[in-house]
Amino acid sequence: MRYSQYLLPTLKETPADAEVVSHQLMMRAGMIRKVAAGIYSYLPYGLRALRKMEQIIREEMDRAGAIECLMPMANPAELWQESGRWEKYGKELLRFKDRKSADFCMGPTHEEVITDIIRNTVNSYKQLPLNLYQIQTKFRDEIRPRFGLMRGREFVMKDAYSFDLEDAGADDSYRKMYQAYRNIFNRCGLKFRSVEADSGAIGGNFSHEFMVLAESGEDGIVSCDSCEYAANVEKAELIYGDLATPVATQDLTKVDTPAQKTIEDVAKFLKVEASQLVKTLIVQTSDDEVLAVLLRGDRELNMIKLTNLLDVDWVLLAEDDVVKEATGAPTGFAGPVGLKIKVIADAEIKGMADFVVGGNAVDVHYSGVNLERDFTVSQFADIRQAVAGDPCPRCDGGKFESWRGIEVGHIFKLGTKYSEAMNATVLDAEGKSRPLVMGCYGIGAGRTVAAAIEQNHDEYGMILPMPLAPFQVLVTMLNPKDDQVRDAAEKLYQQLLDLGIEALLDDRDERPGIKFKDADLIGIPLRVTVGARNLKEGNVELKARADGETVMVGLDDVAAQLQQRVADALAFEPGN
Ligand code: ATP
Ligand code: MG
Repeated sequence: MRYSQYLLPTLKETPADAEVVSHQLMMRAGMIRKVAAGIYSYLPYGLRALRKMEQIIREEMDRAGAIECLMPMANPAELWQESGRWEKYGKELLRFKDRKSADFCMGPTHEEVITDIIRNTVNSYKQLPLNLYQIQTKFRDEIRPRFGLMRGREFVMKDAYSFDLEDAGADDSYRKMYQAYRNIFNRCGLKFRSVEADSGAIGGNFSHEFMVLAESGEDGIVSCDSCEYAANVEKAELIYGDLATPVATQDLTKVDTPAQKTIEDVAKFLKVEASQLVKTLIVQTSDDEVLAVLLRGDRELNMIKLTNLLDVDWVLLAEDDVVKEATGAPTGFAGPVGLKIKVIADAEIKGMADFVVGGNAVDVHYSGVNLERDFTVSQFADIRQAVAGDPCPRCDGGKFESWRGIEVGHIFKLGTKYSEAMNATVLDAEGKSRPLVMGCYGIGAGRTVAAAIEQNHDEYGMILPMPLAPFQVLVTMLNPKDDQVRDAAEKLYQQLLDLGIEALLDDRDERPGIKFKDADLIGIPLRVTVGARNLKEGNVELKARADGETVMVGLDDVAAQLQQRVADALAFEPGN
């Protein structure tokens, strides 16, 4: 490709609305442009990176025995009504009507469509196992689209669906996808962890997320410092050990805490640690229940654990008027003493005595509070967020370390949730009809490219890993008006193309400084600079974007060297 005839609109300035590095750089390097909130066009340079990502996914899915298909974006409501998700999915599901007033949605995921295909095409166990995948555009009307491709409303996803007769077979299909995912992210050269995850709205019995480690990640991860256990904080199990039976030594005392709003304020005011406070959150569930939830003052509630514990669709912090009705006080002063609603407490509370709680009145707290004597709890459970330093639930003595991560892939074992709801059955060897056991497996293609940039950049721009780079080699022609330079660069460019190397020839009539700046910004892994001075000695300059290492190479040798370096950078051994 010739730069002079390409569309690569680089920007000097960082767009104001781009918060994270990958979004900033993808905009600045002319990869993407925003069309509407969470909706982007891929410009040619960005599309090449996306296609690379898709191809890696495709090859690894194929290697794992999955088969490619393509389903439509527009899904008829009937299929979603059958699974029950037409009502359940919530506002992320973009619903619309066609000209005949029939209801449709834009597919945010495709369990319904694939299950419909399989129930109509597969009827015997002999056709199993099957794993079908597609690489396709999804639409989710995200409440907070942000970070460019990282959290879009329209985005490209690879989604695969496996079908087995037996549970054991489904486990096998799951394991194959787990390995395929490791291959994909290893092949991209990403630092990632696979972690145990909550299976969320999609349902199912177990699931893993693949997290690219990055400070800007929206997800918290914990991993054990001495065993293999790693989990999303949403899911991370906590062990509470044998909590010492608390002994009450203080009397229940009402204390005035004028204008002390936060936990920190109150702790300071009363000269106790935040861990000696118990905070009370009033929550509302999808079943219209209002509950009080107790946590140690320095802990955070894990809404997902609470939602799972209560077995409801969602739990939210209660609105101010609901809090007022339940506690008699405005939000921020709730406490369990004298409260009429059901109280659920984090298990840790069981081991506490003589603590401080809200007094259900403005600027009032109770101190010397004790369980049973002063209030009762209807259930103790693990409902708090894990943090670094918590003990590992799987090994002896291990402690959690914590990380930020970007979820790039998610695999679920679904079981028979969809096949039962949609009557997708096959006949087994005895001629008995049985629901298919399913799994589903997603990767965000655009999000993974963005995550790769989060992990690979410096102050000058992107440092694209070779497997994802839109071009492998950039040939910079320093002065296109110099015939010798032009001829040498053109010849090298042609040589590279003949060798099957993806090359971009910077033949623009621009100053070297501009060319070098753009080169650093767009992050092509290898750059060859053809300039008059070096050419006199028969040399060109070869520079690696990643470490800046620069070597002088003979013009006649450079193509072969580049070929070798590209091949080395793409070499990959599956299965690690
Ligand atoms: P998140 O928790 O980030 O919203 P999710 O759990 O909703 O993700 P899945 O339904 O498992 O995501 O989708 C599979 C993959 O699709 C994710 O691992 C992610 O890589 C990608 N993905 C999901 N939502 C988006 C989005 N809004 N923009 C870009 N990629 C996305
Ligand atoms: Mg989501």
